[in-house]
Amino acid sequence: MPHIPPPKSQCAHRKYGLTCVEYDRLRDDASASCQICGRSELDTQYGLVVDHDAKIGNWAVRGLLCNDCNAALPHGSSPDWAHSYLRNPWWKRELAARGIDDYKAIEEPPVGSRVLADGRLGFKRTRKGWEHTAAYFALPRSWEELNRRFGPHKIRVVS
Ligand SMILES: [Zn+2]
Ligand SMILES: [Zn+2]
Repeated sequence: MPHIPPPKSQCAHRKYGLTCVEYDRLRDDASASCQICGRSELDTQYGLVVDHDAKIGNWAVRGLLCNDCNAALPHGSSPDWAHSYLRNPWWKRELAARGIDDYKAIEEPPVGSRVLADGRLGFKRTRKGWEHTAAYFALPRSWEELNRRFGPHKIRVVS
């Protein structure tokens, strides 16, 4: 069963660049349970939380966890109890499904190219970097930053 978006606010998973369809896919993948201890979403007070790898970017969603496991997960190390979970993150499988081996694998398109990020934001490659095509005063970003912000699977070269 699909999740029910909150009636008056944006779904919390949008913060990680996940559409409602993608979130449901993630939730199905996790069987709506914490991917470390197996606790069901129904046995949590506020539902499961989206866990991501902050070193890579918000888009790098590792999976769904209960609050306890999420809070117990140390930064930058991999304890035995979380090892298999951390070794097989959702984002790697998402990239693999699109034929992307590694998050740096996409080559930077040349000056003059345009990309669409997250299906809605346009950027153009100038000599200064990637400039937002709509936000006039936004500073150009590097290819690295763009990938870090949106994820390589959410960047599409349009010309
Ligand atoms: Zn949603
Ligand atoms: Zn748990």
